[in-house]
Amino acid sequence: MASLWLKILAAALLAVSMAAPSRAAEINAAKLGAVRNAALSDQTAWGVVESLTTEVGARPVGSPAMTRARDWAVAKLTALGFKNVTVETFNTAVWTRGEERAEIIGPFPQKLAILGLGRSTSTPKDGLSAEIIVFPSYQGLLDAPLGSLKGKIAVVTQRMPRTQDGSGYGALNAQRTRGPFEAARRGAVGYLVRSLSTDDTRLPHTGAASPGEIPAAALAPADAELLERMAARGKPVTVRLRMTSTYRTDVPGWNVSGDIPGIGAPDEVIVIGGHLDSWDVGDGAVDDAAGVAITTAAAKVAASQGPLRRTIRVVMWGSEEQGGSGGAYAKQHAIEARSKMIVVGESDSGAGRIWRVAVPALVLDHPHIRAFAAAVQPLRVMVDRAPPQFGGADVQPLIELGAPFVDFSQDMNRYFDLHHSDDDTLDKVDPGDLAQNVAVWAAFLYVAAGGDIVFKSNDRPVSTGQ
Ligand code: ZN
Ligand code: ZN
Repeated sequence: MASLWLKILAAALLAVSMAAPSRAAEINAAKLGAVRNAALSDQTAWGVVESLTTEVGARPVGSPAMTRARDWAVAKLTALGFKNVTVETFNTAVWTRGEERAEIIGPFPQKLAILGLGRSTSTPKDGLSAEIIVFPSYQGLLDAPLGSLKGKIAVVTQRMPRTQDGSGYGALNAQRTRGPFEAARRGAVGYLVRSLSTDDTRLPHTGAASPGEIPAAALAPADAELLERMAARGKPVTVRLRMTSTYRTDVPGWNVSGDIPGIGAPDEVIVIGGHLDSWDVGDGAVDDAAGVAITTAAAKVAASQGPLRRTIRVVMWGSEEQGGSGGAYAKQHAIEARSKMIVVGESDSGAGRIWRVAVPALVLDHPHIRAFAAAVQPLRVMVDRAPPQFGGADVQPLIELGAPFVDFSQDMNRYFDLHHSDDDTLDKVDPGDLAQNVAVWAAFLYVAAGGDIVFKSNDRPVSTGQ
């Protein structure tokens, strides 16, 4: 009797193994562990981030360097074996830094380290000198009555806390992005803001701002504190700014993408990527050559362990910092986003290790997601029961069209030491941390592209795999 059952069992197993090639990829914790391990020893991500920072460097949208970055991206994706390598052109507005100088004229003359904010205006040719008003908090500026800053340079010196999840930046970035506008509304002729930095180097950190029609710059943290101390002495403090910049509209930008076509359901697409552009300081290693490298390498590693049913597409968005690339991509792929994009995600939080993964709530208990959770657990990654909050600036327009998304949280404790400053350079990227990111993304891509999970939050998960 026992031997008959064994024969039946053996026949059933044979049938399963013979049927396997036409079914979804084998997805279980052991297989995903193998994908993870392959990623941990893979050198592709380091090769990509090293290549982009060495052969191109800083690459602000609208610059000759960004044109070289576009060509680099096409060559890199092609060399790595991606198919359908595509350059999509869009037009965007571009702010370009010129000359920048700032100094305290009195009562105690000293130089100040600044970096203009994107969309800052130029000062008059000979510069602008005005008395400052220091606000220790951004709320203090908002509480100032309209017209009360007439003829003054408003200075906001609120400090940014260091946090693992980057929430300090989320809480404070209005002082950079909205500050110039709010200061101008109150009559200010200039705006200085303590850099959104957690570091103690004398480097300012730039970033985008909404237009305020006044010169606006970030101060090195040390110089924000210098202005606080000087103003606390009670005498008027006068600062002189000299800044130039240009602002152009209808400048071409490019989104570059490459596919690893699925075998079975090639029109179902998983869209991941990072942004190719950077600010004009540093070499843009952590923001966001790392994200480009992580997602490119993860796609390669996942496919190398395949074959996978669905297409993995890596997009290198071309104007995240000054805006425009995510919207342009969503516009060109709106139909696909509504019906064919299985899941989307972006890596744009530097090169720190992933510690939390958030996926749409209804797939949390799918056996493939459980296997994924088991495979990444040794990397000190938890799959959160809470749904994803934010997928990334460039995938946000796809999410708004209905594409399901994931949110992989990286350790951002160090990110804002470097972000948007001259210290954002390759030496800050740890190859081991980079590989940990690739391992998490690769295991996830294997699940998403190899199986048939439906991530849509209003649908039940459906699977014919294990
Ligand atoms: Zn970024
Ligand atoms: Zn950035």
